[in-house]
Amino acid sequence: MSDLERKRKSGWEKISDDLEKNIYDFANEYMNYLNRAKTEREIVSLSEQIARENGFKSLDEYAELHPGDKVYYVNRGKNLYLAVIGNRSMEEGLNIIGAHADSPRLDLKPNPLVQEGEFAYLKTHYYGGIKKYQWTAIPLALHGVIVKENGEKITVSLGENDDEPVFTITDLLPHLAKEQQQKKLAEAINGENLSIVVGNRPDDSEDEKGKDKVKKNILKLLNKKYGITEDDFMSSELEAVPAFKARTLGLDESLIAGYGQDDKVCVYTSLRAILNIQNSERTAICLFSDKEEIGSMGNTGMESHVFDTFVSELLNKSRINRPNLLDKVFCNSRMLSADVDAGADPLYASVSDHNNAGLIGYGISINKYTGSAGKSNSSDANAEYVAFIRRIFNQNNVQYQLAELGKVDIGGGGTIAYILANKGVDVIDCGVPVLSMHAPYEVTSKYDVYSAYMAYSAFFNN
Ligand code: MN
Ligand code: MN
Repeated sequence: MSDLERKRKSGWEKISDDLEKNIYDFANEYMNYLNRAKTEREIVSLSEQIARENGFKSLDEYAELHPGDKVYYVNRGKNLYLAVIGNRSMEEGLNIIGAHADSPRLDLKPNPLVQEGEFAYLKTHYYGGIKKYQWTAIPLALHGVIVKENGEKITVSLGENDDEPVFTITDLLPHLAKEQQQKKLAEAINGENLSIVVGNRPDDSEDEKGKDKVKKNILKLLNKKYGITEDDFMSSELEAVPAFKARTLGLDESLIAGYGQDDKVCVYTSLRAILNIQNSERTAICLFSDKEEIGSMGNTGMESHVFDTFVSELLNKSRINRPNLLDKVFCNSRMLSADVDAGADPLYASVSDHNNAGLIGYGISINKYTGSAGKSNSSDANAEYVAFIRRIFNQNNVQYQLAELGKVDIGGGGTIAYILANKGVDVIDCGVPVLSMHAPYEVTSKYDVYSAYMAYSAFFNN
């Protein structure tokens, strides 16, 4: 008989030596992954490489699919779907885990390069929900692609290695910030002022007599380094991201600090879980979507039908497809929407209902619903499905907690859960609790990261 009263305790209490070693080793592998990929494109290409090393082949390399086959599809370099074909027919449903590879950041504007005073800047338009003041006075790196008119693609990563320059957005010194300091936090930094310093040295060559000599010097350097002209920015996707490395946090080394853990922590843990599948009854799918932070729109966002097309192709190549089968497959499918939860922060305790908050170090967080103000826009999972998830987690010794994102009417948020739920899939949000979510440096617990890996592994095997 189970305990009468719900017991909550830190996952670290009375932990075995073996488990502790597994947790710390896994955390090191995760931090290494974070330090190799900071954008959705980098996550997709690194994960594709890891999947190939583990026996996955691209969909077009298969003429037919059979149980045990490991297959993937990359959508426009920003989306990755991985599948392991199960022994039973896909008609009985899929086990899907979906995370998102994009994270809040500063995107360069289409015509970003300007000179103001003695400085050259790259102007930005922020991506996703950020607190703007957090993005000033920190080191930034530039990642992304520039595609020239002839289709040639130049991949950019600048600011990560010690021998490369970094970038930053300046902020006002406190001595002269009397007026700024009286402003509301949300208004103290103007979005148009999120401009990245890229230079201060004028072009002093004989042929440069006009103004904007600092900008002209930058253009010459860009042309020398990348072979581009100012017009080529128009067809680029360059993202300014924190230049910090992911690191172990705390004297007890129990935590991880790093950029983009929303939602790369769920990307990595679900990727590792699908790589482990040996012989599964149901077909397992791991998907990494894009554009979650700005509403999941567009042809790489979860709202697009590209995922449906991928599953249809699995049915085609398994030689079982027929009219309307896709709808039936979705109605028989289960999903974990693998996205981070707001961890309870004792410094800001008033926003959380402690009894219903994800506690850091207490295991993976399950959100039955998200949304805001009366569960608005939430996909609220059925009790029957929650019971099923509890059962498989308990059977596999996964420590989990049921939580919601903040107190009633304090705020809220959403994930990709509703999009799959609308197709008829049983979906629940299930991810790692995070502190300082959407900040340049986010905090997770090594215990919770490992719990996510255990949870996703258990889900795939049931
Ligand atoms: Mn997220
Ligand atoms: Mn987010």
